[in-house]
Amino acid sequence: MSLDSNCLFCKIIIGDIPAEIIFRNEKVVAFKDINPQAPVHILFIPTIHTPTIAGLASISSEMTAALFLAAAEVATAHGVEDYRTVFNTGEGAGQSVFHAHMHLLGGRGLAWPPG
Ligand code: 5GP
Ligand code: ZN
Repeated sequence: MSLDSNCLFCKIIIGDIPAEIIFRNEKVVAFKDINPQAPVHILFIPTIHTPTIAGLASISSEMTAALFLAAAEVATAHGVEDYRTVFNTGEGAGQSVFHAHMHLLGGRGLAWPPG
């Protein structure tokens, strides 16, 4: 497992920074977003440090797929049938933490297109 000691989300993985963790396996950790934008707003992160989802995909297709499988499981557990998964890539698209992460948003109607 390759982590970055300066990365906020790596610190959440190892427990150095607290988070409301709701799912964990060897490939994925999921926790509630600290600033939720929907009744259900959960972040899914790979257990290795890489800044972007394309970077993760180039390292491991299994880890990439594991994010989506975890999201489906967690959505079902929260009684959420319709949901949105989002990767913000780059500052201009809203990325503020440079450890690849997938947002799961649900529990309310979601407009399209997004802002
Ligand atoms: P981004 O803007 O990079 O796509 O998403 C980063 C997300 O991480 C934001 O939605 C933000 O609210 C969340 N976040 C930032 N710092 C923390 C933290 O310390 N704990 C948790 N649980 N979420 C965080
Ligand atoms: Zn990291």
